[in-house]
Amino acid sequence: MTAKTEAPLILAVDVGGTTLAAGAVTPAGDVLLEERVPTARDGRGQAVESILWMMGKVRDAAERLGHPITAVGVGVPGPVDTVTGRIGEHVPHVPELSGRPLARQLTERFGVPAYVDNDVNALALAEWTFGTARGARSLVVLAAGTGFGAGIILDGRLVRGASGFGGEFGHTPVKFDGPRCWCGGRGCLAVYASGRGIAEAAQARVAGHPDAALLRAADGDPLAIRAPLVFRVAAEGDPTAAMIVDEACQALGAMIGTVVNGLNPEVVVVTGGVATSLAPLETRILKAAGEYAFPRALATTRVTIVPGDKRLTMRGAAALVLYETGGRPEESR
Ligand SMILES: [Zn+2]
Repeated sequence: MTAKTEAPLILAVDVGGTTLAAGAVTPAGDVLLEERVPTARDGRGQAVESILWMMGKVRDAAERLGHPITAVGVGVPGPVDTVTGRIGEHVPHVPELSGRPLARQLTERFGVPAYVDNDVNALALAEWTFGTARGARSLVVLAAGTGFGAGIILDGRLVRGASGFGGEFGHTPVKFDGPRCWCGGRGCLAVYASGRGIAEAAQARVAGHPDAALLRAADGDPLAIRAPLVFRVAAEGDPTAAMIVDEACQALGAMIGTVVNGLNPEVVVVTGGVATSLAPLETRILKAAGEYAFPRALATTRVTIVPGDKRLTMRGAAALVLYETGGRPEESR
């Protein structure tokens, strides 16, 4: 005989380039059970096997406690065509997901409805459903992590675009004749304001300068120069690092200006791993935004910089399920 049936839960998964996180999440966004494993747990190219193993483990643990799992939500680091249900062909951090009909596979495996979307779309739904943008009708999340993603909600709808590329603000130019980006474009926001872009800019500028403060702070190893170190050395007064940080603030300001003038959302949330370093620079970033945005539009937009929280993306996968099934708390009021 099983124990009495507890409240149903959502099995929510965040697929990251280095870490997979799965949780059993309540419709109010509370995480009751959580599991994390390296994305390469079963070897490189085997992320799907690891995802299924981890999800099964959380599902079993929830059911042992008497909680049925009623749906599955997953955020993945790439575009998703939610019409065809296929992940896009370009998933640089977890290439084995490319082109995969993951939602259908998960429905078959777990016997419940499954929803898969881009991880920053999930993050935007999390901020809207459980986070700082609760109650807003429109918001844009700019997520500065290793790369740079964004999610758009307008008039109460997630904007995915015709084939899942909606919200790729990280790869829109803030400098039309700027340097080449790894996406194939040039002058993209990601070149200036993502963790990878900031680190690569710093590594390029210290090449051939063994006495550079950035190199000394990295014990002489250019590949050890990461974005947080650049921000720290800039705060200590090094002009090379300060110039890179200044470009990051200016690029982000230009993008906030683009977002505010182009979409005029109620809320802009700047988050992601790099946001921990950006938060103390909020005044500078807002000043830069003011150089590009219409003052009246910027005045009606609440811009907040909140350090990234991996757990929020996982809760976003639960928010995705609520969004797709009409179960968001605000809709049931
Ligand atoms: Zn790009």
